[in-house]
Amino acid sequence: DFFFPPASAAAHWSYDVAIVGGGIVGLASARELLQRHPKLTYVVLEKENELAFHQSGHNSGVIHSGIYYTPGSLKAKLCVRGANLSYDYCDKKGIPYKKCGKLIVAVEQEEIPRLKVLYERGLQNNVKDLKLIDKKGIQEREPYCRGLMAVDSPNTGIVDWRRVALSYAKDFCDAGGTVQTQFEVTDFHMAKESPEGSKDGLKYPITIVSSKGTEVRCSYVLTCGGLYSDRLSEKSGCSRVPRIVPFRGDYLVLKPEKHYLVKGNIYPVPDPRFPFLGVHFTPRIDGSMWLGPNAVLALRREGYNLFDFKMDEFIDAVSFNGLQKLVLANLVFGLTETYRGLFISAQVKQLQRYIPEITVNDVIRGPSGVRAQALNPDGSLVDDFVFDGGFGAIGSRVLHVRNAPSPAATSSLAIGEMIADEAEKKFTF
Ligand SMILES: Cc1cc2nc3c(=O)[nH]c(=O)nc-3n(C[C@H](O)[C@H](O)[C@H](O)COP(=O)(O)OP(=O)(O)OC[C@H]3O[C@@H](n4cnc5c(N)ncnc54)[C@H](O)[C@@H]3O)c2cc1C
Repeated sequence: DFFFPPASAAAHWSYDVAIVGGGIVGLASARELLQRHPKLTYVVLEKENELAFHQSGHNSGVIHSGIYYTPGSLKAKLCVRGANLSYDYCDKKGIPYKKCGKLIVAVEQEEIPRLKVLYERGLQNNVKDLKLIDKKGIQEREPYCRGLMAVDSPNTGIVDWRRVALSYAKDFCDAGGTVQTQFEVTDFHMAKESPEGSKDGLKYPITIVSSKGTEVRCSYVLTCGGLYSDRLSEKSGCSRVPRIVPFRGDYLVLKPEKHYLVKGNIYPVPDPRFPFLGVHFTPRIDGSMWLGPNAVLALRREGYNLFDFKMDEFIDAVSFNGLQKLVLANLVFGLTETYRGLFISAQVKQLQRYIPEITVNDVIRGPSGVRAQALNPDGSLVDDFVFDGGFGAIGSRVLHVRNAPSPAATSSLAIGEMIADEAEKKFTF
């Protein structure tokens, strides 16, 4: 890890491009923009003390191969390209990863048609070396896993995405970019006069204000705010919908003496009604083994614990029509997931569908992550990545990464390329 100066150092500085959000998407985009346009000046503004602190530092650590996503969607295209770019990048930088593969396992007869649809999708998305395997094939790959049929994806891997994000930050800083931590963006406005003592006049017309009252001037803004992407969009005069709803995912950790039960990633056939992949078995690059995550509506956006609560965020969320509709339509699912979150035994029961030998005594509670899920006012979940901008004085100078759910870590380098393409079309560099 390396040191980034706190916000006060940035007061009244001016840059051509400001990137708000130091997660993997903001850092990949900042890196790509700087590589393409090295003469421009850049700053990444991050509210936390460190980079990659939220979703980019709290995830399953899987390099997805692109099986699940609707052919032709941004998710499908950016994941397949992103996975290839990620492997190349890790090779180049010496970042450890492991192609431990993945099985998506059907344990009930009724799941087989859905599994076959996934297999076909994977083929259409050009996922490499995909195979359908039977019971015997599953036993050969994962001796303790029961199942009737599985999609075998040998190109799925694992990596520490936080480490990858920090490496993007290092590339960015080495090439002349600036990172400011502890800079929580609270407002954007068009400057009416040049900063005191500045020779730049109104060359940098956007003023970005932090919660501490410090200011950064810039010409163009890219926001990659993850769990706060809708708020940042609204603050810059752009649309707030779709809105972000936080879903916490809790992991269990398998005790080391039981690691022999799992070799690679084992995933369920996902429920097509939800954008989550389901509780899975995931080896970690540090040698541990995580099981999960579930998906529980969180009471605050960055709430990593069961009882984390923030009144204004809670009121804001429950007064949103979209969330009310979503909750009513999925009451049973929501209550079941909450129950599983509370009682380890319920979560273990789900895992036993795949590895019957696992017992409650083999697991302990592990970390949690919070997903930024975009939601429409009609209660429908936004499945694909969404990138947009706005109109008017500030809006026309802003690009938003509005929805970057999983697999945005896998896709990050490809997202960076796309953002740079969009910026070149929209802004006059
Ligand atoms: C439980 C879980 C499991 C996942 N598993 C995988 C996986 O296995 N593989 C995969 O590819 N993807 C996975 N994902 C998805 C992936 O982690 C995310 O899609 C990705 O990290 C999103 O990156 P981001 O930069 O958009 O968001 P974030 O990492 O959340 O970054 C957003 C940043 O913006 C900052 N910010 C917000 N508001 C402000 C403000 N006002 N001022 C300044 N800074 C601000 C935040 O502090 C944060 O650092 C998973 C996600 C979760 C939650």
